[in-house]
Amino acid sequence: MLKSLLSNFLHLIYPHNCEGCGSDTLNNDSFLCAKCLYQLPKTGFIAAGNNPLEKKFYGRLKLENAAAGFYFTKDSLLQHLIAQLKYKNNQDMGLYLGKLVGYQLLATDRFDSIDALIPVPLNPKKEHKRGYNQSQLICEGISSVWKKPIISDAVTRIIYTETQTTKNISNRWDNVDGAFAIADDSSVKGKHIALIDDVITTGASIESCGSELLKIEGLKLSVLSVGFTL
Ligand SMILES: [Zn+2]
Repeated sequence: MLKSLLSNFLHLIYPHNCEGCGSDTLNNDSFLCAKCLYQLPKTGFIAAGNNPLEKKFYGRLKLENAAAGFYFTKDSLLQHLIAQLKYKNNQDMGLYLGKLVGYQLLATDRFDSIDALIPVPLNPKKEHKRGYNQSQLICEGISSVWKKPIISDAVTRIIYTETQTTKNISNRWDNVDGAFAIADDSSVKGKHIALIDDVITTGASIESCGSELLKIEGLKLSVLSVGFTL
């Protein structure tokens, strides 16, 4: 009773509107009303194997399973939510989007053998500028409902110095912002890891980071993201 009074009071002071339609009929910890949430385009990949995201990595990266929660398209509501997370310092949005994926994971046993979540590391310069890694926040959101630990210190991102960057040499990872390196494999050896990203488009970062992780003895890899671009 007191809690709900307080919640209503806070709602009056800090109006909290749906990011989709502007309606103010939503819970304090939500960014979408029930109607807009329902309209987010679910992929159905989390419950279904052999999906387009898994096919994207065939022959590129040996994965156990892969899935994204929602389709990501230009000018969509999901693009707006991801932009809030990446460019508007809306860190709670990362937790919220992670929870939405977490609830989908709870509804299936397809990913149950996963031992831990690893966020795709951000280029350290970019993380310093943004103040956080959005994939880490998504991991925290997923983990809050789908109880799996997060391991953030196993893999890091290396920034090439000017002299190492040779623009005219064709590099497989041209569109990857820095390469990845294993920092500490002690906590991930022999484990089934889910690599977590915000949106998967070309899959280049996942392929680059995942191929480093797969060098670790006995490691099995799956991939999860909030959004997927067809
Ligand atoms: Zn709405």
